[in-house]
Amino acid sequence: TMAHSKTLLVLENFIAGKFVPCSSYIDSYNPSTGDVYCRVPDSGKEEVEAAVKAAKAAFPVWSSKSPLERSQTLNKLADLIEHDLEAFAQAESKDQGKTITFARTVDIPRAVYNFRFFASSILHHTTECTEMATTGCIHYTSRAPVGVAGLISPWNLPLYLLTWKIAPAIACGNTVVAKPSEMTSVTAWMMCKLLEKAGVPHGVVNVVFGTGTKAGEALVCHPDVPLISFTGSTLTAQRITEKSAPHCKRLSLELGGKNPAIIFDDADLTQCIPTTLRSSFVNQGEICLCTSRIFVQRGIYREFLKRFVAEAKKWKVGNPSDPTVDMGALISKEHLEKVRSYVKKAQGEGARVLCGEGVDSLALPTGNQKGYFMLPTVIAEVKDESCCMQEEIFGPVTCVVAFDTEEEVIERANGVKYGLAATVWSSNVGRVHRVAQRLQSGLVWTNCWLVRDLNLPFGGVKASGIGREGAKDSYEFFTEVKTITIKH
Ligand code: NAD
Repeated sequence: TMAHSKTLLVLENFIAGKFVPCSSYIDSYNPSTGDVYCRVPDSGKEEVEAAVKAAKAAFPVWSSKSPLERSQTLNKLADLIEHDLEAFAQAESKDQGKTITFARTVDIPRAVYNFRFFASSILHHTTECTEMATTGCIHYTSRAPVGVAGLISPWNLPLYLLTWKIAPAIACGNTVVAKPSEMTSVTAWMMCKLLEKAGVPHGVVNVVFGTGTKAGEALVCHPDVPLISFTGSTLTAQRITEKSAPHCKRLSLELGGKNPAIIFDDADLTQCIPTTLRSSFVNQGEICLCTSRIFVQRGIYREFLKRFVAEAKKWKVGNPSDPTVDMGALISKEHLEKVRSYVKKAQGEGARVLCGEGVDSLALPTGNQKGYFMLPTVIAEVKDESCCMQEEIFGPVTCVVAFDTEEEVIERANGVKYGLAATVWSSNVGRVHRVAQRLQSGLVWTNCWLVRDLNLPFGGVKASGIGREGAKDSYEFFTEVKTITIKH
């Protein structure tokens, strides 16, 4: 309505260094109130075309700059985002529903660090060289940026995951067209306002806002975009693979998870319980790395469950801008309904819901009655075949089941289509090592969770993805290698 539109935040695409309006827009909701508060461009082929053209035009100059020059630009951008950290954190929390505390301490600091990390890492790569004395030849490799990179990111960690792609892409000398999630576009738009001041030349970073099926697919299908880095669901990745196949594009796919935590009876529960609560419920359980299947060895099963549920009940759910709140709102009404439906299905199958959804009551502040909230929910006595143990729920729901032997738990942990991250809790080093080796998972954390060194590979196996990202991996993905032979 007209009265409304005056107060709405209206985003614009960022193409060739300029903000440009779009002919149509999509509503974006504040998940903690249920109100429309922002309008996001509903870009399509035309907007993507303009952005790709700008990125292509900027490529020759940007790609020929030295790594040091690009590094300095990335560092400046990091400083500028850091300078506005509080404004970015507020915006991320409002747009996504996550707590202000999480946005302040995780999302935005990590976005800053992504730029600093790749600004540094780009200075330290070396290429290979071999000598063949008998033929009088030396062989060496050289790496060059690929061209225009298409970057597509999800709604759960908006700026964090988008910058995890933009930073290595431009550090390597590519130019980019990025499409953030239509549900969480605000911080990407805010970042665009800083690019010129950071010294990012026009056209090096272009951002088109809009839906996956319209703007996303136009990017995936564009013949002048030779590589796509995508983070999101497995279903969308299948579609992207299909759509990009006629162009033989290079794809990096970071997808969903159904991550197990394996807790042996010699685990230090004083460390394990608080960490497993966090790994299950932080960011409303909306992190691809979140734990959703907890296997506890029989001897400590009852004790674990009792303590875990007692602690889960203490989590405060409410207004994300309240710094004392542990969990904010889920991303959308539809997503909340989907997450809730899993709890219902589990109940229907005879599982026991020990706390949270449908069991405890949720008292919300007056302004948040229409927000998309639910309580941390713990389900026990779920069968391994149940959809709650097989499908990614992506909300604050975790299942706890008992196991007896090491052999058995490895098989059960591996018994899903996903393979992103696993955690193992035990004080027996030999066992931790043995189990970690046998888990079908791109990442295994033992006696901790989500401790990352960006130097090392990140990514999933099976339906959790193809390719890895990290210092060396991102460098390899975002560059094209050539082998040159010199005969002397
Ligand atoms: P999604 O797949 O629905 O959307 C992700 C992005 O793809 C969005 O920008 C969306 O607009 C776009 N998109 C949708 N359809 C498209 C199409 N046909 N062509 C091109 N682009 C399209 O995922 P989501 O719901 O935004 O995010 C949640 C999912 O992301 C979960 O499965 C989660 O596990 C996964 N995730 C994975 C990682 C990881 O690093 N492995 C990190 C975070 C989230």
